[in-house]
Amino acid sequence: MATLKVPTLGVTGGIGSGKSTVCRLFETLGAQVFYADEEAKRLMTKDRALRRAILDAFGPESYLPNGQLNRAYLAARVFHDAEALRRLNALVHPHVLKAFKQVRKQAAQAKVPLLILEAALLFESGADQLVDHVLVVDAPEAERIRRVVARDGIAPEDVRARMQHQLSPEMLRARADFILENTGSLEQLRQQVEALYRQLTRA
Ligand code: ADP
Repeated sequence: MATLKVPTLGVTGGIGSGKSTVCRLFETLGAQVFYADEEAKRLMTKDRALRRAILDAFGPESYLPNGQLNRAYLAARVFHDAEALRRLNALVHPHVLKAFKQVRKQAAQAKVPLLILEAALLFESGADQLVDHVLVVDAPEAERIRRVVARDGIAPEDVRARMQHQLSPEMLRARADFILENTGSLEQLRQQVEALYRQLTRA
């Protein structure tokens, strides 16, 4: 029997580019979305092997007495230490990729029209290797900062600091199969997503 296959699209973009918004629009059209960052957070608490690896690498403070991930501690450990961030990601990413492969199998069996992998670090994690095409969502930096300040209530400097941890828009764009310029209204964004959804799901 031939292996079932589901069309897959990786979606990435810098913070505030609008990638989550784009994914929610895809969902309204019938796509299934795997949110890699949320899955990573879930696995860091739930997956025993991953917990053990994080404890070994970052110490017992990595988890709170109630068993929850100590986000504040880990964030402080990695925020100004690129090597520590790289080590943490190297522990987490393989587990997320494995979870995605499982979801991809189920989505194929369920004949899902389009499976999306949304990841801020799509290329850095190697997740781009698991999808047919990559969509990069982009918008001018000033606009992205404005949007994140409004969304999260944080200072523009903090948004800029987070941007430092991501590939530059130029590098993302160079590796994209599709680029979505999120410079207009949400209605315009919806239309762009719909056009792409049609193109990707055409038999
Ligand atoms: P990301 O997931 O890339 O960080 P989001 O999808 O969360 O970005 O978008 C950042 C913020 O900007 C959200 O509050 C979202 O509602 C808003 N936003 C995104 N695109 C637009 C747009 N075209 N017009 C107005 N607001 C937008």
